[in-house]
Amino acid sequence: MDTNGWTHAEIRRRLALGAWGGVCALLILCVADLPAFADGEPAACDPSAMAEERERMVRRQIQDRGVSHPAVLDAMRQVPRHCFVPADRRAEAYRDHPLPIGLRQTISQPYIVAYMTELLDPKASHRVLEIGTGSGYHAAVVSKVVKEVYTVEILAPLAREAESRLRSLNMDNVHVRVGDGNEGWPEHAPFDSILVTAAAEEIPPALIRQLKPGGRMVVPVGAVQDVQRLTVLTQDAEGSVSIREVLPVRFVPLRKEP
Ligand code: SAH
Repeated sequence: MDTNGWTHAEIRRRLALGAWGGVCALLILCVADLPAFADGEPAACDPSAMAEERERMVRRQIQDRGVSHPAVLDAMRQVPRHCFVPADRRAEAYRDHPLPIGLRQTISQPYIVAYMTELLDPKASHRVLEIGTGSGYHAAVVSKVVKEVYTVEILAPLAREAESRLRSLNMDNVHVRVGDGNEGWPEHAPFDSILVTAAAEEIPPALIRQLKPGGRMVVPVGAVQDVQRLTVLTQDAEGSVSIREVLPVRFVPLRKEP
């Protein structure tokens, strides 16, 4: 027994079951201080590999922590996360933490990808805007649940790499653009929902304008040196906005300029 009265086996079991999901969520995204791998074509990857690891990830990290949207769980089962991380990190792809993807950016923890997707209240007919393409993984997951995904990335090498990876996996309903996500993607607005995967000090007004009446936005809000608040913004049919904070999180910053 340790001082809390739990055996180490019990502690391990609780961690595995995700009883500490809220605490683990604090680990969501750390800034990776590792060399870039975003230097061209992604390495070849077998999408059918690591199916057991993927299934275990879905059960232990995602379902056991309360994500229950069937299409989201299916998407997490389908998308080969190991194809979205650098080749030398593939063995870690299904672990319960974020990973570096180059250029000091990270792919989010699997649980957070699933939870944020569920918070979007996605429907098969939806068109979704993502800000912060990164590896393309989150866009790929959302693309399995909705009709079209439009995703904006400020770092051109990451955007190009994500696009070629998504093409090679035949995920043709994801559209990638290089640009400043603070401006959204006006040519394709309005969107049923908007997903921001970098921390905004304030919710960009252009994104609120590009949301359909009745739509919702999921966005981490707060200064980068602080723990941020995962926030769900909903807009009613008349255009009034309400805000709910759901989880303390840690994301890389939403940059203000290229
Ligand atoms: N969704 C990604 C992870 C996002 S990490 C995935 O599934 O892998 C956050 C990403 O936001 C980084 O790639 C970063 O370059 C990008 N980013 C930061 N500021 C941005 C901005 N103003 N516009 C668009 N993308 C931005």
